[in-house]
Amino acid sequence: MTTTRIGIYPGTFDPITLGHIDILGRAAKIVDRLIVAVAVNPAKTPFFPLEERLALIEGDIAQLTEAGHKIEVTPFDNLLTEFASQAGASIILRGLRAVSDFEYEFQMAGMNFRLAPDIETVFLMASDRHHFIASRFVKEIAELGGDVTPFVSKAVAQRICARLEETRGHKPPRQFASYQG
Ligand code: ADP
Repeated sequence: MTTTRIGIYPGTFDPITLGHIDILGRAAKIVDRLIVAVAVNPAKTPFFPLEERLALIEGDIAQLTEAGHKIEVTPFDNLLTEFASQAGASIILRGLRAVSDFEYEFQMAGMNFRLAPDIETVFLMASDRHHFIASRFVKEIAELGGDVTPFVSKAVAQRICARLEETRGHKPPRQFASYQG
């Protein structure tokens, strides 16, 4: 009997970046089904509402799902280990960038292991092209009028631009002209 290996890739994805996509593509190769679990995280007051974060991920993973990878995108607002158990997942996937990620991730993996010893946390090292990308910096760069297309998909860059206009009344920065429409 073959069992389906289900993996969970949790995060805030506010918004999804090329770094996330890289991890997603690699994670999809090591599990049979990958669930991208999007933290509702109202306490963090995300830049994008949940529905938009979900839609942007769906758009960005279209190529991977078309290529045959089984990837689903689902919100969650309960304990991660509880969500993972309910989904029948045996693996939690996380990306590791700099040393600065390590302490937090190490602690979280340890606590999750205590809560659910049957679920293993697996870390994928950020690739050299993406290790410096963080959603937080993408938002800061966009806010200050910088071009974020090296860090996120064109669709995400467009939505950041539109969201800035909606929320702050900013005009699209000059650099953004290349990816309007
Ligand atoms: P969280 O709020 O859980 O940190 P994020 O959306 O920021 O959510 O990140 C989700 C996961 O993706 C984390 O494991 C994070 O380390 C990883 N990640 C984020 N950016 C990158 C990147 N550029 N390269 C590799 N992994 C990344």
